[in-house]
Amino acid sequence: MVQLVGSLRKELVDSLSSSKVLVVGAGGIGCELLKNLVLTGFKNIEVIDLDTIDVSNLNRQFLFQKKHVGKSKAQVAKESALQFCPSANIVAYHDSIMNPDYNVEFFRKFMLVMNALDNRAARNHVNRMCLAADIPLIESGTAGYLGQVTVIKKGMTECYECQPKPAQKTFPGCTIRNTPSEPIHCIVWAKYLFNQLFGEEDADQEVSPDTADPEAAWNPEETATRATASEKDGDIKRISTKEWARSTGYDPVKLFNKVIVSQLIFLGSLFKDDIMYLLTMDKLWKKRKAPTPLDWQQLENSETAGSGLKDQQVLGLWGYCELFQHSVETLRSQLQEKGEGAELVWDKDDPPAMDFVTAAANLRMHIFSMKMKSRFDVKSMAGNIIPAIATTNAVIAGLIVLEGLKILSGELESCRTIFLNKCPNLRKKLLVPCVLDPPSANCYVCASKPEVTVKVNVHKTMVLSLQDRILKERFGMVAPDVQIEDGKGTILISSEEGETEDNNSKFLSDFGIRNGSRLQADDFLQDYTLLINILHTEELERDVEFEVVGEAPDKAPPPQTNQEEVNSITNGNKDSAQPSTSSKAPEEDDDIMIVDSDEEEGVSSSSAAAVSSTTKRKHSDAETGETSTKRPRMEQSSAAASPNDDDDDDIIALD
Ligand SMILES: [Zn+2]
Repeated sequence: MVQLVGSLRKELVDSLSSSKVLVVGAGGIGCELLKNLVLTGFKNIEVIDLDTIDVSNLNRQFLFQKKHVGKSKAQVAKESALQFCPSANIVAYHDSIMNPDYNVEFFRKFMLVMNALDNRAARNHVNRMCLAADIPLIESGTAGYLGQVTVIKKGMTECYECQPKPAQKTFPGCTIRNTPSEPIHCIVWAKYLFNQLFGEEDADQEVSPDTADPEAAWNPEETATRATASEKDGDIKRISTKEWARSTGYDPVKLFNKVIVSQLIFLGSLFKDDIMYLLTMDKLWKKRKAPTPLDWQQLENSETAGSGLKDQQVLGLWGYCELFQHSVETLRSQLQEKGEGAELVWDKDDPPAMDFVTAAANLRMHIFSMKMKSRFDVKSMAGNIIPAIATTNAVIAGLIVLEGLKILSGELESCRTIFLNKCPNLRKKLLVPCVLDPPSANCYVCASKPEVTVKVNVHKTMVLSLQDRILKERFGMVAPDVQIEDGKGTILISSEEGETEDNNSKFLSDFGIRNGSRLQADDFLQDYTLLINILHTEELERDVEFEVVGEAPDKAPPPQTNQEEVNSITNGNKDSAQPSTSSKAPEEDDDIMIVDSDEEEGVSSSSAAAVSSTTKRKHSDAETGETSTKRPRMEQSSAAASPNDDDDDDIIALD
């Protein structure tokens, strides 16, 4: 076996074999990295990943083989890497790095931590743990052909969170429900519909027409009259999907009998009656093309098939009607098999779930005069997938090791952020190193006394949304404790179970929180304290729960690629603190074609921008679809993610 040690200085070789390092994630980048580490001469390696191996990983996560499908990534990666270097000491954890067992003491064992993650939540967390433990962190990410590696050291460089990252992109409810203008809007709607029917209920995921759409400015009485008149059956009441579900007592059997037995009515309701109702909101259609309702009977036995490979063909309308019916039947039986009260979780790799969304989204696209999309296209948008490329991961993993060697040689000052471009820049370089920036004085994570100002309506914001949306999702805390600086030290949120749950549904103003109030939020695991100044406002835009003052507004520059490819969506995952899915494959990546699976979480796509020699490029967040002004580099998208999805990799753009 050949190792790199022959070309390294003796002191460095000694340091490699004695230093303990942590690899977080054993996916696309993680596998390459682990292999590189043992071949370079690292002897004490711990690796953590909570995922198991999926068949779709096998095209690029080369430590895994078909026989390993279903097994722990960390464990199998360890065993495979040991074959390269049996004398290495590798410890594998099949677990989430966000588990409190991995506390600051745990991190202090290492000389160096290397992230090979795919989601922002886990990255934020490891960033904080490494700051708290004062251990150097090498952060990395790839998105298609793009990748980057950077080094984070407390007090010396920017931390992962020094540059504000735009909030995840979401679409206004009325766009999804009333006026979709891009296929992605229809796909989001179809995913909402899936959750409404088979998954977890979420009031934010309503699929029926939004009568409160300010743009419609309609006259309710008049519209109601017209709506009634427009239906043959005047008795059909306008009720939401949820109300309709409720009317069956949420009895899954009744609910689904209705769907199946009166399939025609149901389909009609979604794709015909709801659309006719939308048509009555005539102000919406003054400046845009009005939708065309579908009628099941008229469609019956019309054109069905498309041509080409199954995943790449666009079916006829009736083909999508049949697919819709068939997938509903399959999903209903899946739900029944799971028993009373069960829910299905949408997964793009679950064929009936994917069929359902493909069919429902395409029917809606047709209604709104959009060109229908193949199952492949819908899947990449619905899963926010960006193709993962094995060679990009390999390049990035190699760069991680090179930065690691500098750190172990005590040459932190020579570390760089390195970007891997898709095309050579003006200097004909594919790899572009940039000097590391010093910490940002205003960082809400690594500043000496982190402090932020948040605009909210204290009369409308509940304690639970302070916890979930603001502290967890926006500020990356895992288990926040919050105390009001009111002189009494009132505890608003406790991370101890059962202590403050009663506060959850109360409003901030119920605790005397008003304009100018200060809250102290602590995450004891992260050893992180954040002071929050409350700015009360009644003027937040619709659908905006809060705003962090002084940050770039959540507006991205227009993406360079096709808009629909770049928008990202939140999947309705409540826990969107953890970004997961991510973006889509840009058109130019057709030749790549991996689309896959696990990693989809988290990343993005991008197009590389040439870096001029004068403009220093900063990285952008792979998980968000946007690039901040300082970061002209990749545009990406993001989405909600599954909690603690900490590994993966591949896609993620880092940073
Ligand atoms: Zn920072």
